Amino acid sequence: GRIILRQAHTTLETRVPLLRDKAFINGQWVAAASGKNFDVIDPASGRVVGSVPDMDASDTTAAIQAAADAFQTWKHTTAKERSEYLRKWYDVLVKHHNDLATLITAEAGKPWKEAHGEVSYGNSFVEWFSEEARRTHGEILASPTRTKEMILIKQPIGVVALITPWNFPIAMITRKAGAALAAGCTCVVKPAEDTPLTALALAQLGEEAGLPKGVFNVVTSNRHHAPEVGKALCESPLVAGISFTGSTAVGKLLYKQSSSGVKRLALELGGNAPFIVFSSADIDKAVDGAIASKFRNCGQTCVSANRFLIQEEIFDVFVEKICSKINTLKMGYGMDHSISLGPLINTTQSHKVNTIVQDAIKKGAKVHLGAKPASSLGERFYEPTVLTNINESMMCYKEEIFGPVAVCIRQTEEEAMTIANNTRQGLAGYFFSNDIPQLWRVAKELAVGMVGINEGMISTAEAAFGGIKESGIGREGSHHGIDEFTYTKYMCFGNL
Ligand code: NAD
Repeated sequence: GRIILRQAHTTLETRVPLLRDKAFINGQWVAAASGKNFDVIDPASGRVVGSVPDMDASDTTAAIQAAADAFQTWKHTTAKERSEYLRKWYDVLVKHHNDLATLITAEAGKPWKEAHGEVSYGNSFVEWFSEEARRTHGEILASPTRTKEMILIKQPIGVVALITPWNFPIAMITRKAGAALAAGCTCVVKPAEDTPLTALALAQLGEEAGLPKGVFNVVTSNRHHAPEVGKALCESPLVAGISFTGSTAVGKLLYKQSSSGVKRLALELGGNAPFIVFSSADIDKAVDGAIASKFRNCGQTCVSANRFLIQEEIFDVFVEKICSKINTLKMGYGMDHSISLGPLINTTQSHKVNTIVQDAIKKGAKVHLGAKPASSLGERFYEPTVLTNINESMMCYKEEIFGPVAVCIRQTEEEAMTIANNTRQGLAGYFFSNDIPQLWRVAKELAVGMVGINEGMISTAEAAFGGIKESGIGREGSHHGIDEFTYTKYMCFGNL
């Protein structure tokens, strides 16, 4: 059978809740100083969902000042008080679960069920950090002399800039902001231009929960203003740290720009995850894990499997099974509840995915499924694709695809590790095996920050999320997430 395509229902009108048309600075809903706005587009239908301020450096400076002023008070709150503020925010977010999910489907095209999953995931960081806020503490050291006592305390670094992508419009913000606020920092959020409405909804619900003015500011800007907003955030002496999730290219630019001020930096950049299936694996479970890892959010996740490395004995059966599983997925408009594959976020991304696929085909790849835009649905939809006969010269081997394209490489066990680690990225890696010594050996050998062992979905608030090599620095989630926003102060009491 072929993949089932559902028309983007023009009749499926949904009221989009929590819509704001102003940015949020110092507890006020404000327009851009220039007075300009830009439209937010539903990627499924191409229709305008809303319009938000197109802010530039001057608005950003105002937001930084508001956050710096708010920090003077926020830094003196107790951990328990911050915990209670976050808990209230969490309760309001939970109350608006459906509204947030609908908003995400409207501006990101994410299928309804996944949008709901993301809201739970996004909210879980606010809950988690409301709990972790109270467990951040220092140490009393064993003094080497009788006349001195020494302690280490954790203090908030100050104002932080949070620059976030469009693929998880709520979770990428709460994973950073939850930790920052728990630590005692105040923040300026610059959400992606494709999904600013969810960020503003978060601000509105924070306002409803009673977050003090200036602790959570949202500066919206269109693509052409992002560089000057980013520069203002990196270069302001009032900003102590930058936390960014997005492309490697922008991450490297922010690294350079913030170097003159020697700022604290957390970068969560692109991945190129290997997904290895060894011959001892349960193939059906491996196929389920592969579908979850590759086709969730239509492949637009940084931990998405980018290269399937399948041991030669089971290669053909794996390819056959993944193709038949893909054929059961429905693609279309996310508000239709039976849909599991939505559009790509914008036409830049759908063209990029097609360029990567056509490059592979030109260099000898074999097409098992898809390999073309799903044009009957609209220009942002791309058919789920399966490619084999892959070689190192292809873009799909080296680059983050960020689309519904499964690249399957035939390998022996010995080759697997070399191929898996032969990349400049090191975010996530996955493998399926039932060989116990191999489980530990491979998990240790994979040069990545996170490993899924017989598991395709690994992200949770309890765990430390982050990469090595060009995939970034720093960790989010877990208690390590708060460390990014605190510094350790050593105090030495003498003459005792
Ligand atoms: P991007 O890095 O350009 O955008 C991410 C964020 O950075 C957005 O908020 C954007 O406005 C902002 N930004 C862009 N230029 C900036 C600048 N000069 N200074 C400061 N901020 C700036 O990502 P994209 O163009 O939306 O996506 C391109 C590719 O990036 C994707 O194909 C994918 O490979 C990768 N990506 C990775 C992730 C991830 O989770 N690691 C998320 C999104 C995209």
